[in-house]
Amino acid sequence: MAKVIIVGGGIAGLTAAFRLCGDAQVDVLEAAPSLGGQIRTQLSAGFAIERGAEGFVFRSEAVPALAADLGMPDELMGQSVSQSYGFGDGGLRVLALGEAAAFLGFQVPTADLGKGIRTFRRGMTSLIRALEGSLRGRAQIRCGAIAKSIEPSSQGACVTLDDGSRHEAELVIAATHARGAATLLAPRFGAAVAGLSQAPTLSSVTVELAFERAQVGHALDGTGVVVAHDHQRDGLGACTFTSAKFADRSPPGKVSLRLFFRPSPQQLQELDDDAWAERALWGVQRILPVQGQPLRAWVSRWPDALPVFNDRYTAAVVEAEAALASHPIVLAGSAFHGSGIDAAVRSGEAAAAAAKSRGLTL
Ligand SMILES: Cc1cc2nc3c(=O)[nH]c(=O)nc-3n(C[C@H](O)[C@H](O)[C@H](O)COP(=O)(O)OP(=O)(O)OC[C@H]3O[C@@H](n4cnc5c(N)ncnc54)[C@H](O)[C@@H]3O)c2cc1C
Repeated sequence: MAKVIIVGGGIAGLTAAFRLCGDAQVDVLEAAPSLGGQIRTQLSAGFAIERGAEGFVFRSEAVPALAADLGMPDELMGQSVSQSYGFGDGGLRVLALGEAAAFLGFQVPTADLGKGIRTFRRGMTSLIRALEGSLRGRAQIRCGAIAKSIEPSSQGACVTLDDGSRHEAELVIAATHARGAATLLAPRFGAAVAGLSQAPTLSSVTVELAFERAQVGHALDGTGVVVAHDHQRDGLGACTFTSAKFADRSPPGKVSLRLFFRPSPQQLQELDDDAWAERALWGVQRILPVQGQPLRAWVSRWPDALPVFNDRYTAAVVEAEAALASHPIVLAGSAFHGSGIDAAVRSGEAAAAAAKSRGLTL
């Protein structure tokens, strides 16, 4: 059986592994101590806290199909509420359906406006755990395995790890972020992947604050609040009413609110978790009548995590893929093929299909 190495154990890499497993010998190499990449749910004291992605676009067919193939279709869950608030001139007001995305400047296709998102009952990590469980014993998964380079070799392609070990396979799927892939491929593909090393990205810091229900003097009858651009302070762009938006995200009598910041590089470097939690409390109190200190705060930092698909970067991906086309090396993930979970899953599926179409699984 042919061997496929997948570098990156986020949702794209794991989807590719799941689709290839059984037809090929699959090794997943993940740099972090655990799988999931930008998907990480923390269950703590009755709260379900999304440190990264909280859901996927409603129109997605790929994610529900994957969930069904993993035997977990019943775990899918929609939003409990649909209306959103805006904060701007005149304070809070209910937004028209679809207006929230425009407020935030998201590139949302018209068909998706106002549809909201779906998620899994116990958080997005359920999907990662299901993939991990399905791969256990059928694929080799190594966390803490940091790839340093990917090069064509006589057997197909070779991945070198930071411990100097070399791993040969018939095909390698690079399912990392764009700059990571550029570093991995640069020794052999140089200029052709240079555009990936300049991938435009946005950073994100989110702070989830937990309160007693009585501390928040608002109905919390919506998905949350988006802050109009000229009313944003400290980069705070939105606040999700997590415990209202999705069922079972907080224990009875408590609520959780998630603040989304777009930090500057300097803020990312200088502010510690306490400083972010303080800003989050100040920010939420500007928007909502919130009394007293939060019960808890969870700060999640995501430097350069979110890809921005402008024309130049899209062309850079095309150039890199053209250079790789005659080698058994495939790019996968939302860094290359569109933002978000749905795009990442579809990209993982496409990478697996590309491997199969090359006859690697015969
Ligand atoms: C705060 C936040 C909120 C979000 N909210 C949503 C949302 O609500 N809905 C939505 O659709 N999307 C959301 N997203 C985006 C979504 O999470 C991502 O698009 C998706 O998870 C990316 O998956 P991926 O597998 O392509 O990449 P990643 O999850 O980034 O996985 C790449 C993996 O590669 C590993 N890696 C990198 N370099 C190496 C190396 N050299 N060797 C080995 N491993 C390496 C990384 O450690 C990582 O695990 C959000 C993202 C963030 C940060």
